[in-house]
Amino acid sequence: MTEEFLKPLEEKTLAEKLFLLRFRVDGESHLILNKEVCWECDERVCLLICPSGVYRWDEGKKEVTVSYEGCLECGACRIACPQGAIDWKNPRGGFGVAYRFG
Ligand code: SF4
Ligand code: SF4
Repeated sequence: MTEEFLKPLEEKTLAEKLFLLRFRVDGESHLILNKEVCWECDERVCLLICPSGVYRWDEGKKEVTVSYEGCLECGACRIACPQGAIDWKNPRGGFGVAYRFG
C-alpha cells in the first residue's frame, strides 16, 4: 500500500487518484434527478459517464440512485444526460470535493 501511495501521480490508477481526494459531505444533495424523466430513459448514459460512479442502477427499485457524496464536480453528467434530467448545482460553500493539486 505504501508503494502505491508513493507512486508518481501519472502512474497511479484512477482508483488510487480518487483515494487522494477529500470530501466534505453536505447533508443535502447538489444533484437532483427528475425521476419521471429517468423512468422513461433507455440510454442511462449517467451510469457510464461518471468517473466517480455516482450514478448506479438499483435493480430492486428499478431506478437510478445518486451517491452525490463522491461527486468530483466535473459536470460531465450534466452535459451527457440527453434528457437534461439532472438538476446540477455546485455544493454549498465549504462542502464538496477538495483537490490536492488545484
Ligand atoms: S440522468 Fe439522464 S441519462 Fe441518467 S437515467 Fe436520467 S435521463 Fe437517463
Ligand atoms: S459532476 Fe462529474 S463526478 Fe459529479 S456526478 Fe456528474 S459526472 Fe459524476
